Amino acid sequence: MTLFIVGGAGYIGSHMVKLAHLAGHEVITLDNLSTGHRDAVLYGAFEYCDIQDANRLNELFKKYTPDAVMHFSAYSLVGESMSDPYKYYNNNTVGTLNLLKAMIDNDCKNFIFSSTAAVFGNPEYIPIDEKHPKAPINPYGKSKLMIEQMLEDFDTAYGLKYVVFRYFNAAGHDESGKLTERHDPETHLLPLIMQTVRGEREAISIYGNDYDTKDGTCVRDYIHVNDLSRVHLQGVEYLMGGDADSKVYNLGNGEGFSVKEIIEKVKEITGKEFKVIEDDRRAGDPATLIASSQRAKKELGFAPEVDKIDDIIKTLT
Ligand code: UDP
Repeated sequence: MTLFIVGGAGYIGSHMVKLAHLAGHEVITLDNLSTGHRDAVLYGAFEYCDIQDANRLNELFKKYTPDAVMHFSAYSLVGESMSDPYKYYNNNTVGTLNLLKAMIDNDCKNFIFSSTAAVFGNPEYIPIDEKHPKAPINPYGKSKLMIEQMLEDFDTAYGLKYVVFRYFNAAGHDESGKLTERHDPETHLLPLIMQTVRGEREAISIYGNDYDTKDGTCVRDYIHVNDLSRVHLQGVEYLMGGDADSKVYNLGNGEGFSVKEIIEKVKEITGKEFKVIEDDRRAGDPATLIASSQRAKKELGFAPEVDKIDDIIKTLT
């Protein structure tokens, strides 16, 4: 298959490029390098492209005639989305709408979309399955939910078929060590803790210790980036198998770890002590997010290989 990997220079996208290439697909990365890195694209062609640029998108669809598009190119920081919502609605929602238009105009009707657990907001029950009500509490989650809603209508009207994956917390690195998480500035918990372990930061802050959770700190469900990438391939194979209905899947390991637990685990695994600061809550954070991935397991054969938190952390050391 010929696959467009939009955002292939980013953290999850670059892992996807590698896996799709190794699975024998022709991969073409489209990226505007706003947060991604050219040297993270280890395989296939690279085409500079901003998804806001309709002419450039059309040119590339005509050049490669891809079978499917995998879309990873989004801003994904909850805190930033609270202070700069325009950036999120413009890139994530408007940009994706533009990409979908180019797909329809060029008769490419298979779409894999990276959505997020942030579409759910504060959970009404745990673990969160696909039927859980969607009530995002930050612009990031809203910007992604809007796309999910657009996709339903694009399927009905234009026959666009999609698989939406709602990630819980993507973590870990590829075993080669060549692909890493390189955000600037970094805001995610595990890479920040690892910077603290390496002495590149003085301390790690815990954002809030008064949540309604086991130890007062936020609970998240961490999933290894290669497990995420593998299930994307299963998703695209499903779509290309013919007569596929559009689908939505939640992806996590079904187990929650608090911020404090993650910090303790890193100390245990690395044998390093480091400074921890109890800080204020970060705006927009739900207390607990834990996935039920039963549907992906049953329907797609999702079978995580690095499913223990200790093993996920070890890929970072
Ligand atoms: N967090 C924290 N200190 C940090 C970074 C994150 O306490 O320096 C918390 C954050 O408030 C959230 C959890 O760790 O509850 C995971 O945050 P991250 O940004 O990694 O992912 P998110 O859940 O926002 O997608």
